Amino acid sequence: MPHRTDTTRVHQTRDEHDLVDVDPHDDGTFPVFRWRQAPAGYATRRQLCAMGLRPGGQEPVARIECRQGRRFAWLYRIDLARPKRVPTLAQEAALDRAMAARTTCPRCRRRYYHCLPLRTLGSCLECHDGTPADPTTYLTPATA
Ligand SMILES: [Zn+2]
Repeated sequence: MPHRTDTTRVHQTRDEHDLVDVDPHDDGTFPVFRWRQAPAGYATRRQLCAMGLRPGGQEPVARIECRQGRRFAWLYRIDLARPKRVPTLAQEAALDRAMAARTTCPRCRRRYYHCLPLRTLGSCLECHDGTPADPTTYLTPATA
């Protein structure tokens, strides 16, 4: 048999072998599937993301490989996935405004890293009774 024909036959045989030989305990830990062979109900992190989901703290349950294992991705169970929690810019801005109202002194306009006794004193301690404020505990207001 000519060498060239033999090589082609061996190559085809190896591909067929890879397609049918899915060892569920390949590395002793995770089932490993070839690309596009993953069973229904499993998805990679990227596929979950495309569905608006995230793994949600679950450990990957399997590994999917392509290019003879040189590239792989973890598989997660879709039924355990949770919806993505992506705060919008508006939500973050609202949270920051709410925090700023509790940490900014209305008299000196310094913004402290801690909440101020605004309900009782209405200002920071330095404005209230002259207690010097630690300069590391506040941001000086921007001079606009
Ligand atoms: Zn103040």
